[in-house]
Amino acid sequence: MIHIAHWIGGAERAGESGRVGPVFNPATGEQIAQVDLASAAEVAVAVASAKAAAKAWREASLSKRSAVLFKFRELLAARTGELAAIITREHGKVLADAAGEVARGLENVEFATGVPHLMKGGFSEQAATGVDVYSIRQPLGVVAGITPFNFPAMVPLWMCATAIASGNAFVLKPSEKDPSAANWLAALWAEAGLPEGVFTVVHGDKEAVDALLTHPDVAAVSFVGSTPIAKYIYETGTAHGKRVQALGGAKNHMIVLPDAELDAAADAAISAGYGAAGERCMAISVVVAVGEIADPLVEAIAARLPKIRIGDGTDPNSEMGPLINAQHRDRVAGYIAAGADAGAKVVADGRDISDRPGFFLGATLLDNVTPEMTVYTDEIFGPVLSVVRVDTYAEAVQLVNDNEYGNGTAIFTRDGGAARQFQFEVNAGMVGVNVPIPVPVAYYSFGGWKASLFGDTHMYGPDGIHFFTRSKVVTSRWPDPGTSSVDLGFPQTR
Ligand code: NAD
Repeated sequence: MIHIAHWIGGAERAGESGRVGPVFNPATGEQIAQVDLASAAEVAVAVASAKAAAKAWREASLSKRSAVLFKFRELLAARTGELAAIITREHGKVLADAAGEVARGLENVEFATGVPHLMKGGFSEQAATGVDVYSIRQPLGVVAGITPFNFPAMVPLWMCATAIASGNAFVLKPSEKDPSAANWLAALWAEAGLPEGVFTVVHGDKEAVDALLTHPDVAAVSFVGSTPIAKYIYETGTAHGKRVQALGGAKNHMIVLPDAELDAAADAAISAGYGAAGERCMAISVVVAVGEIADPLVEAIAARLPKIRIGDGTDPNSEMGPLINAQHRDRVAGYIAAGADAGAKVVADGRDISDRPGFFLGATLLDNVTPEMTVYTDEIFGPVLSVVRVDTYAEAVQLVNDNEYGNGTAIFTRDGGAARQFQFEVNAGMVGVNVPIPVPVAYYSFGGWKASLFGDTHMYGPDGIHFFTRSKVVTSRWPDPGTSSVDLGFPQTR
């Protein structure tokens, strides 16, 4: 049995709490490892190590920090396959998808190599006579990242690339369901020359998270996970004086207008609905079919379903792997039953294959779903696509805008005017036009609206630099000696 330890002070460090959690291979259902779960005392040791490292790292020159980022980028690009294999073993997603996750994380590292430019402030000469004003951005110190199971490499990279580049020491609390990617990244940072203590991993559950949220030396918490936990993280972290960005769950709608290209829309619904077995925060879970396209669209999606190759993610022929664990598989299956009971039409039922070893569930398609059904209201996070039929574009947009979540959304149409109107009026943070999963490139920032994000700053890109730094404005004067005088009036800029 593999034992997964913490990474503190530049090396693995076995847990001392006596508590461990199981890690499974979802394709076989077997437990393959156990991970240490940190106590509050162990979190304190990790934060102290990060704090000790933060000062020297902040003082390292921009070019030195950028050089470490470049080296890390080269190593990660060269060894993507190694990390992808770790992700597939513990998460279950197919190898190509795992490599795709690493590639999107790599983009964030590439963005962060430009930190000398990203940290530039502004300068105003002669703001008043003989007075210059300029702004600088400085790191916060020790910052923490708490991440979900579904992207065990990409989401930590979303956070740590900008946090570290901008001069902070970063403490990662990864998901306890697939924790090995975090340690692999820690070893890679060390190989890239990052000083020990600047990237730390503490494994754990609520106990470790609570310790980070209340620790006085943690200045900021970046979180990605489900909405109830995101809300808790935001409220607890801010109540303890921390800067918090907490990204939550999603229910992403794809609107298909009657003029859309049918095959492209059906292909997109399949790719975005069932990729990673629906365990993506940007997965499409609701197709909103407008008008007469509904029948042919459902038919086209249904025709593609039997062709999805479901199997062990390590098999290069597999296109869709299992779910993360048995409990989650059963929960998703429960939603299929609830949808059928509530009157949805089960066009394809993924429960047919749930007796395989491992945590598999097949691709499921529900038609005639209505907004009060739990398959519509709840985030299912599995390979279940619901089709809601509406008569008009206005009804479709209303549906998206009334939804509790506002992460991503997409419209499929050949009408540029309709697409523009949609991006203007839809209440969601990321919008796709004929693009079903509009994850922004690394030089924009990622984030949803409504219950999909608590806080105001989005993840990575320019917002990431903003989140992990604070600004300071300097007003400076170098008067000639002997020219000063007392003036009790309020300073004015003449
Ligand atoms: P989760 O909320 O269960 O866990 C996320 C993190 O919080 C983990 O590190 C976990 O250990 C910790 N945690 C869990 N319960 C806790 C508690 N009671 N107190 C304190 N900490 C706790 O999420 P998950 O199941 O790992 O991931 C799937 C969820 O993440 C989905 O809802 C998905 O939509 C969301 N997600 C959102 C985005 C986004 O960008 N908005 C991206 C990826 C995933």
